[in-house]
Amino acid sequence: MIYQRSSALFAEAKKYIPGGVNSPVRAFKAVGGDPIFVKEAKGAYLYDEDGNRLIDYIASWGPMILGHAHEPVVQAVIEKTKKGTSFGMPTEIETELAQLAVSMVPNIDKIRFVNSGTEACMSAVRLARGYTGKDKIIKFAGCYHGHSDSFLIQAGSGAVTFGSPNSPGVTQGTARDTLLADYNNLESVRTLVEANRGAIAAVIIEPVAGNMGCIPPTDKFIQGLRTLCTAENILLIFDEVMTGFRLARGGAQEVLGIDADIVTFGKVIGGGLPVGAFAANAEIMAHLAPEGPVYQAGTLSGNPLAMGAGLAMLTELNERPEIFESLEEKTIHLHEGFDNALKKKGLPYQINRFGSMLSVHFTDTPVVDFATSAKGNNATFKRYFHGMLEQGVYLPPSAFESYFLNDALSYSDLDETIAALDRLDLRVV
Ligand SMILES: *Cc1c(COP(=O)(O)O)cnc(C)c1O
Repeated sequence: MIYQRSSALFAEAKKYIPGGVNSPVRAFKAVGGDPIFVKEAKGAYLYDEDGNRLIDYIASWGPMILGHAHEPVVQAVIEKTKKGTSFGMPTEIETELAQLAVSMVPNIDKIRFVNSGTEACMSAVRLARGYTGKDKIIKFAGCYHGHSDSFLIQAGSGAVTFGSPNSPGVTQGTARDTLLADYNNLESVRTLVEANRGAIAAVIIEPVAGNMGCIPPTDKFIQGLRTLCTAENILLIFDEVMTGFRLARGGAQEVLGIDADIVTFGKVIGGGLPVGAFAANAEIMAHLAPEGPVYQAGTLSGNPLAMGAGLAMLTELNERPEIFESLEEKTIHLHEGFDNALKKKGLPYQINRFGSMLSVHFTDTPVVDFATSAKGNNATFKRYFHGMLEQGVYLPPSAFESYFLNDALSYSDLDETIAALDRLDLRVV
């Protein structure tokens, strides 16, 4: 396949946009080469600026769960646009989407809409701090909660007591309030809780991790985390920006059978427009302005375009919950096909899957946390990624990202993808 025009557009973009992109992963830094510029997309396919058709496995990193340019979503946006795109005043559709979301998700009474997953997580942590009167939070290595300061913290190589910032511009003061634990390791959480008793407002976690590849929690870990948080008066925040309205109507809470205290959303809830949200029971949410003292606001929050797209999306998912099962069946089909294809290649690999999320890791140890995910062989991953791209399959351009299947993918798309992998020579020369 030829990617000439994409490369030319990238060169031009780099003159005016830092790194040529508006979000870093798009730049292909992890896999090398120039990113693909998209012209349009429909259903399961991306059409790039060189006229190539690509089978899409990222779905805009999750939101396009029903496929690209899904008709009811497109229609909702067109209709809303004609009537004005933002008023800075309340509209009825905000309540409609709120009511629907609350009816689909367990354990929440009220929801506040924002403009991104980052905003949702940032605001959820502020609410948890305001509600508990405590400052510190615990996050897990390898979990991503957006790019706000408190979350850009990684473990140093030594003891994991206080995080150190892993981006310049994040202050030591902020880093001190973020404690770092290991995913699927309850003991690492317990140690932090004991060393900081009475100081921890919240534990924030991706209930199924999707930002270090796809890593499901063990039952023991996630149940233990719930019990520990309850016993220690710590709020448990489920970051369901990826998993919300993807794993089931009620997201990971429903599938895992665990109630979180605060839940954050993004991606699917906006139907492809910029929407995030955070939600909790009425008592916690009463602390939020204007009802309570914890401040949070947004000029474009709840704008009719975003709400229209979100409402069209959630309405369909609510009415056709069999979509979740059929997506999972497709993902299992891909998993099995990949497994058969990779088995023949004589290379170590792991395939992780949960619902319609999946990831492939070139390592011989099971991938259960950030450290084991980081062991993946990146040279092999690069060959895999570019080899699939050459054959018209668009996978996430980093081993730390999850694949998101969408409802428009057919079994023949999946079989074409599996056949592409089967043909691939992954030996690094
Ligand atoms: C994508 C993501 C975010 C950030 O959402 P943005 O809309 O990119 O700001 C937060 N948490 C998780 C789990 C995500 O996957």
